[in-house]
Amino acid sequence: MPNIPALIEGFRRFRRRHFSGEGHTYERLREGQSPITLVVACSDSRVDPAIVLDADPGDLFVVRNVANLVPPYDTDGGRHGVSAALEFGVRALKVRNILVMGHARCGGIRALLEGTEGEFIPQWMSIAGAARAEALTAAGHLDAADRERALEFAAMRLSLRNLAGFPWIASAVDAGALALHAWYFDLERGELLRVPAEGGAPEVLCAAEDAPA
Ligand SMILES: [Zn+2]
Repeated sequence: MPNIPALIEGFRRFRRRHFSGEGHTYERLREGQSPITLVVACSDSRVDPAIVLDADPGDLFVVRNVANLVPPYDTDGGRHGVSAALEFGVRALKVRNILVMGHARCGGIRALLEGTEGEFIPQWMSIAGAARAEALTAAGHLDAADRERALEFAAMRLSLRNLAGFPWIASAVDAGALALHAWYFDLERGELLRVPAEGGAPEVLCAAEDAPA
């Protein structure tokens, strides 16, 4: 089986790092978790938030899906995996931050832009339909790569708006107990950007030249 022995070897290294020595990582964590930040990230293999943000076990409560989307608040009785994770993170774990982490070259966003076939993906990506319209109006004059990036940003802003539509998220934000963030991992340039909720140019949090190899 390709890759399987390498994964078991990986677990061995992980185990040496986090299960050995006095006061090892899981001595503390087996009692329970108290992550400060909930991350909504894309399933893309290149953008694992724990790796990209160099976080330790217990630091991040992570939900991953195609194109890091937050669906609208909807109590229709459907099986809402993202909403269930938000509920647990916000109401039970009482995280202090929700971070929507988008990224460059997102296949889900490209599918939304170009149209796609599939049993589940088109319906899932329709969450960002309004973002598509917004990005195409604003970025119609741009080339394909820039349009894609504009849609990546617009979908993240839409996810922030959807987050604010969950009543217990809105009330925690109003009470100052929770903050919403949107960060963008530019995997082409190796940069981290903040995407403002209100639109406008993203702010560079870590530029390539700030962090030389
Ligand atoms: Zn993606």
